[in-house]
Amino acid sequence: MKKTFLIVLAAVVTLIVIRSSFTISGDHTATEPVQQQNFQEICGTVEKGETLYDIFQKYKLDLNELFKLREASADVHRLRELYPGQPYKITLDDNSCVNSFTYWINDEHILLINRTGSGFFAEKKPIEYEKRLLSFGGVIHDNLIESMDEGRHNLMLALTLSDIFAWDIDFTSDLREGDSFKLIVEGLYLDGEFRKYGDILSAEFANNGEQYHAYRFEQNGEAGYYDDEGKSLKRSFLKAPLSFRRISSHFSHKRFHPILRISRPHHGLDYAAPRGTPVSAVGDGTVTFAGHRGQYGKLVIIRHPNGWKTYYGHLSRLGKNIRKGEKLQQGTTIGYVGSTGMATGPHLHYEIRIHDKPTNPLKVNTPKGKPVPQQYIADFIRVRDSMSGKLALIQVPAQNSVTDEKKGGRWKSS
Ligand SMILES: [Zn+2]
Repeated sequence: MKKTFLIVLAAVVTLIVIRSSFTISGDHTATEPVQQQNFQEICGTVEKGETLYDIFQKYKLDLNELFKLREASADVHRLRELYPGQPYKITLDDNSCVNSFTYWINDEHILLINRTGSGFFAEKKPIEYEKRLLSFGGVIHDNLIESMDEGRHNLMLALTLSDIFAWDIDFTSDLREGDSFKLIVEGLYLDGEFRKYGDILSAEFANNGEQYHAYRFEQNGEAGYYDDEGKSLKRSFLKAPLSFRRISSHFSHKRFHPILRISRPHHGLDYAAPRGTPVSAVGDGTVTFAGHRGQYGKLVIIRHPNGWKTYYGHLSRLGKNIRKGEKLQQGTTIGYVGSTGMATGPHLHYEIRIHDKPTNPLKVNTPKGKPVPQQYIADFIRVRDSMSGKLALIQVPAQNSVTDEKKGGRWKSS
């Protein structure tokens, strides 16, 4: 039996926004220096190869102050390292002396240097985004990625979604035409402008007639995703040895995702995948074999708890430090897809054996994840019910309307 379902999560890129947003918090003004009257402001973006020295020269600022800024900032953020494309702001007082220097280090942090009585004081502050809840619904629908660049944020969202359900759904080969999903995610905004997505708060994925739910829940400062019953989505075994995220980042230079096909000719699964696709250990364990073995070609065998073993064959090469006796964590790259041994083309041969008995990976039942501890159950149920109420309001577009929207391709948020 041969299945030819394509990976299409990338088609998430072309989804449609269903409901608009509402604000849950936001005070981004707190990160900006205090505005004072009569202060002149210089706002700019670091150009390629530009240093703070160049910027000071460009605006004819006092170089002595540059040294003071650098000194004040030395232990907080080295000002020698300005990145092209990052914004900065300099305020000047009546005498054209620098009063403050603000530099956006990255998406997460801002550097603030303010004049004090004696000199300058530098601090690094987290950027406080305004958070809005955004909801999306979409249908999976062939394997087109319209434009990876334009859809960068959406692709990140698709990858995060595939991470959340990686224990339940094999995103590299399980997706079916017409599978659908809904999700509620934080949109992070600055000055009313969308910057990026934050955490996915809840999601629903309908795959091949089964529905999967995920609710983000924090306990003791640790966040995780749980199902309707409050069981962690993390389990001891990943659904598949090929990770959608790994594949996507590995092949990100290509316009299209590789098409994976899965077939089941013998005591295992064969994933046809491009040579070099990273292969992940599906669970924690110890390497019991790493090397050549007959028809398997380059093979890695991992022993897991409770009599489980997993086999990964035809590898082109082994991952870093993959050798007999090595203890591995779930998700570690154990090697790369190839065609060593008896293989007509590059593919991964994957087997599960339980007490040395070959077992169909598609049928195997892995134990459920850990439940939310009893003392937090009531809190969890509140979160779950509120989120599932919101999910229920999201409409998944009919398939043909997705096709219509495909050209538009952007998620609108109003
Ligand atoms: Zn095989």
